[in-house]
Amino acid sequence: MDLFAYAPAPESRDVVDIRPSYGLFVDGAFTDGGGEPFKTVEPATGEALAEVASADAADVDRAVAAARRAYETVWGPMSGRDRAKYLFRIARILQERSRELAVLESIDNGKPIRESRDVDLPLVAAHFFYHAGWADKLGHAGLGADPRPLGVAAQVIPWNFPLLMLAWKIAPALACGNTVVLKPAETTPLTALAFADVCRQADLPPGVVNIITGAGETGRLLVAHDGVDKVAFTGSTEVGREIARTVAGTRKRLTLELGGKAANIVFDDAPLDQAVEGVVNGIFFNQGHVCCAGSRLLVQETVAGEFLDRLKARMATLRVGDPLDKNTDVGAINSAAQLARIADLADAGEREGAERWSPPCDLPGRGYWFAPTLFTGVAQSHRIASEEIFGPVLSALTFRTPQEAVEKANNTPYGLSAGVWSEKGSRTLWVAERLRAGVVWANTFNKFDPAAPFGGYKESGHGREGGRHGLEAYLEH
Ligand code: NAD
Repeated sequence: MDLFAYAPAPESRDVVDIRPSYGLFVDGAFTDGGGEPFKTVEPATGEALAEVASADAADVDRAVAAARRAYETVWGPMSGRDRAKYLFRIARILQERSRELAVLESIDNGKPIRESRDVDLPLVAAHFFYHAGWADKLGHAGLGADPRPLGVAAQVIPWNFPLLMLAWKIAPALACGNTVVLKPAETTPLTALAFADVCRQADLPPGVVNIITGAGETGRLLVAHDGVDKVAFTGSTEVGREIARTVAGTRKRLTLELGGKAANIVFDDAPLDQAVEGVVNGIFFNQGHVCCAGSRLLVQETVAGEFLDRLKARMATLRVGDPLDKNTDVGAINSAAQLARIADLADAGEREGAERWSPPCDLPGRGYWFAPTLFTGVAQSHRIASEEIFGPVLSALTFRTPQEAVEKANNTPYGLSAGVWSEKGSRTLWVAERLRAGVVWANTFNKFDPAAPFGGYKESGHGREGGRHGLEAYLEH
């Protein structure tokens, strides 16, 4: 039964101006690229939005040289106090343009406007504000009295939080006195190019931030370039491994933020409705395209039946559809390739014997969509229990004792995040201490703050982003 009939509430596209084609942003100006241009597609329709330049080896050279010049002549010698002014200015412009940037993000990525407006953009601005505060206080970060910048940072980011991942990379790099060459993902370049415009608006000296677009090959050229001092990568574990091999034996510093397969552990004493909300938020937020998504539900056997019933009832209320509709909970899958990967893993779950369930929901006729999906009866040996699906698919397992919960939660090559739901603080702490995960949330999930370090263990990568710890990756000390 449809309890609430919502009228459509579309956010207007008029606030964005998508040009037919985009160049590379190098040394403060937009230029052509030497590679074959590519198209970025709107996931909700499957239609091309714009043609985007692709950087070849000569373009990467130019961008790195511009970043080096800017580092040596202006940004490196500048006082922290003056760098802070630029970062504050960028943060304020991001706030002023947040509506436009949120709409652009939802169009290019497929995520619901409610999330880009209420989560991504506020966090993007907060990241710049937070790091602006550090720029003149680096001597008080516990990293020595006078920590020095590294030089030129090569940064490669994925498509799931395009502008937020850019902020996580660029804000600390600039605050610490480094200059940047950043490559956004090929399916979501538009907000990074809009950010280039924000840099111009903020009068950031040319070459301090360079944005080069292109696919994996451009990223490969960038991280392998001799002129970079630091490589920061967020993306898949597979590409992270390749980058680690490329950088090994060089002077370059490296941080990797890779995949995850987080456990969301629900004990029988947890407030169940609250836990249902947390589990839903953990896996269906951003269509499950979240590295720290709570993609494995571990629920205590004594409450499993009741919990799964409540979870299904809640999933049936999720509204899947137009990312620009303010009532939408689950938007479009970012690309045809990602949709195929999700479908393939979900089919494997069925073939291996798990029980698949989705609420009835009408998916739009064009674009890339996947209904929120729950698998029950999942065994630890199933692919859906161990491989990252990176989509709106939850695998439910059960446990009897806290020891068993910890063992199952840790039985993964990843170690990025976890959630614990229980009324008892002592039990939560006991479990959290034993979980091999960079972040453990208690009675909540997906809470982010620029002051809190984020990062993984094992195949989820190494190094931390955010907080005082995140500064370490961009400073010589
Ligand atoms: P991906 O590794 O395919 O691509 C990420 C970026 O790397 C893109 O910009 C891509 O063009 C570039 N790239 C591809 N091949 C490259 C190469 N050989 N050398 C250099 N760059 C290359 O990942 P994706 O599919 O875009 O993103 C999804 C993955 O990112 C998931 O596994 C997810 O868990 C992970 N992720 C991790 C975090 C984190 O903080 N740990 C955050 C977001 C996403």
